[in-house]
Amino acid sequence: MTMNKTQESSRLAVLHALEILDTPPEAAYDNITQLAAEYFRADSAVIAFGDETRVWIKSFWGEAVREMPRANSIFQLVLEQDGPVTIPDLRTHPRFRDHKLRFRERSMVFAVSVPIRATDGEILGNLTIFSERPRLPLDPQELQSLERMAEMVTSQLELRLLRKQRHPEKEIKSAADKRASWPQSSDLRRALESGEFVLHYQPEVDLATRRIVGLEALIRWNHPERGLIPPMDFIPFAEECGMILPIGDWGLSEACRQIRRWMRQNPQQDAPRVCVNLSARQFLRTGLADHVEALLMQSGTQSRQLGLEMTESSVMPNVHTAMEVMINLRALGISLSMDDFGTGYSSLSYLHSFPFDVLKIDRSFVGRITDGAQPLQIVRTIIELARILNLTVVAEGIETVEQYRMLTQMGCQCGQGFYIARPMPAEQIDSLLRLPGRVLPDPDVLAAQGFVA
Ligand code: C2E
Ligand code: MG
Ligand code: MG
Repeated sequence: MTMNKTQESSRLAVLHALEILDTPPEAAYDNITQLAAEYFRADSAVIAFGDETRVWIKSFWGEAVREMPRANSIFQLVLEQDGPVTIPDLRTHPRFRDHKLRFRERSMVFAVSVPIRATDGEILGNLTIFSERPRLPLDPQELQSLERMAEMVTSQLELRLLRKQRHPEKEIKSAADKRASWPQSSDLRRALESGEFVLHYQPEVDLATRRIVGLEALIRWNHPERGLIPPMDFIPFAEECGMILPIGDWGLSEACRQIRRWMRQNPQQDAPRVCVNLSARQFLRTGLADHVEALLMQSGTQSRQLGLEMTESSVMPNVHTAMEVMINLRALGISLSMDDFGTGYSSLSYLHSFPFDVLKIDRSFVGRITDGAQPLQIVRTIIELARILNLTVVAEGIETVEQYRMLTQMGCQCGQGFYIARPMPAEQIDSLLRLPGRVLPDPDVLAAQGFVA
């Protein structure tokens, strides 16, 4: 494909809006080049963006390469072909024979490059892996993995744009819409005072053995007329009106009290770690770590028995505060999980720099792994990413035996989901904890015994 003028100008418009040209390399992309280099055992990986005349290097891993004229770049080939480019031998390739790609130390022979696209498809740059020695080209699955990594760059770019152009009018409107509807903050206060909130617990198992390794605490509102209300129907509003702070405190102390009860019931064994979800406002409140420490003391619970889950959207708006809070929580000995990974603006950069212990793959990915090669490959890449970053990986929302099998085969360590066990009241968990080795029976057996919440 040759670029026509309109395509070129809309491409440049996106790049200018991103303010990404003519700026130095950015650490935000280093995890992607690292992942690409390690995953494909390449000597170097590079992320570059190209304007009319030049190619700007945004990140490199391994060997450094310099910013260069576009005409002599692999980016130009990617643009012309509108897709991936493999160069078996740079030394004999007509484009590079006379204009060597200038690396700082070593010279590279083999290259595979895939486009980095804007969300509407324009090619903005490329992600390239290099090798010093000739090697076999990537097979189609591997090529797809590299393309997934380029999509991770696109996610980063989206985040960058979002930060530049917020839409305050829209946010205010949606907040007003919600306020008009049920519940009101007084309903939440009353519910808290009359003890209408309950925690259910969903087992998290080691996929290979089905042993319970953790329990996720999930709040429900047991409303006298409306019945059991799921968290998504009141937590977002509680977050908006500030009631999330007292409700969240109740959840944290209740989880700690429950850990204590399980310890008493079974003093020989440690109870599995209980993980509590934190929303953004709870996460960013001042003195969170001190507060959690006080709750642990009051309930006589040990910190290693508590885990906290947070999502990308809690961490991203205030990266510096988030980092400080997380370091303090970790210093207490509490484990930290990145929840719903992949749904936000999954930025590998902060995943690497924040002290997470666990990465939870969002159930939207897990739900699609049997649909075809692409969703499967995304999950495979996330599992690989977790392995490289030394994080325990948990697949959320496993609903079928096929999903369970595929995840196990792909080397996913842990999982949770309706297929394994539903969230259930604490009393039902009691009997699961008495199972030999805490190994869960087959889902059908579990269901036949009445374990449904
Ligand atoms: P989450 O932390 O991602 O929790 C997992 C959600 O997935 C739970 O929904 C769980 O019931 C559901 N789930 C588990 N396995 C499956 C499955 O196989 N298929 C499907 N379709 N769903 C599955 P739930 O309990 O409705 O909670 C929704 C969200 O509400 C949670 O998402 C969490 O973000 C939030 N939340 C829950 N409890 C609390 C809390 O105490 N505090 C705060 N701040 N947020 C909470
Ligand atoms: Mg969670
Ligand atoms: Mg989740």
